[in-house]
Amino acid sequence: QAKERRDGRPARYDPSLHHDLLERVALESDLRRALVDQELEVHYQPTIVLESGAMVGVEALVRWPHPERGMVRPDLFIPIAEQTGMIHELGRQVLRRACAQGQEWAQLSPQTALTVAVNVSAKQLQRRDFVDEVREVLLESGFPAERLVLEMTESVLVHDAEATLDTLQALKAMGVRIAIDDFGTGYSSLSYLHRFPVDILKIDRSFVERLSGTEDEDNLVESIVQLGHTLRLETIAEGIEEADQIEALRRLGCQMAQGYHFGRPVPAQDLSHLIAPSLPQPSPELLHP
Ligand code: C2E
Ligand code: MG
Ligand code: MG
Ligand code: MG
Repeated sequence: QAKERRDGRPARYDPSLHHDLLERVALESDLRRALVDQELEVHYQPTIVLESGAMVGVEALVRWPHPERGMVRPDLFIPIAEQTGMIHELGRQVLRRACAQGQEWAQLSPQTALTVAVNVSAKQLQRRDFVDEVREVLLESGFPAERLVLEMTESVLVHDAEATLDTLQALKAMGVRIAIDDFGTGYSSLSYLHRFPVDILKIDRSFVERLSGTEDEDNLVESIVQLGHTLRLETIAEGIEEADQIEALRRLGCQMAQGYHFGRPVPAQDLSHLIAPSLPQPSPELLHP
């Protein structure tokens, strides 16, 4: 039935809204089942040292192979997971998987010492037992805390700052490192960088995209890199797609990078030949997309 809107005009029934709602409810229940059946996968994207081109780490990115829809993008289902509380179970599964994989690689190739970065939502950090959960996962996997990086966005540090500070300090005390993801897109206040035990700034793709254009755009990346130097933080540029971006980033003093140019996120086995080169694992297009 048509309700009155505030302006007095009747609200029309909108079939597309109804469709969106049904979609959303369907995705939600599919996601719940996917978590129970542990159907989510984790892909890994290399992190490269710009100076040497060496792969020094990976970022774990969750993937949902949906039986009817194909791969569903995290941008679609992470918000649903956050709103429904499923993010805790999702996050735990990704963290477990990523640390177990990191440890497997460490055993295959002890000299490589890859870091593994895992994305965490604000919601996960707010949960009291998050730190215990990380400790347990590290213990059960055997993966060294020093090689685990937790990625979070700036907003986490701004909201609920006191509780977050405690959580980050506890993680820090364990040896885990903290990266600020999508840096530069969120809050302009930089004061939190002093207050929180941050180790790494990940320069958002949107800044990298505009590199090698005008001097003004380059200056923006340059000032983030310099901020990193000043605060003794590592800087990782996200979203490198073109070779000429590499030169620009090197020149600006950025240490590390990620992006399709170096390698897309892929299943763990597609990286194994890079980590332990003696293993037979052909994957021709990797690192040459
Ligand atoms: P993010 O953490 O900033 O991850 C980087 C995103 O950029 C990834 O998208 C990656 O596939 C994409 N990317 C990497 N290199 C390039 C490039 O050269 N060009 C372009 N255009 N894109 C590139 P993805 O995998 O779709 O993930 C999207 C976001 O979803 C992530 O952004 C992260 O915020 C979130 N996410 C992914 N996995 C997890 C997870 O396990 N837990 C949580 N809480 N969030 C996750
Ligand atoms: Mg990330
Ligand atoms: Mg990012
Ligand atoms: Mg992001």
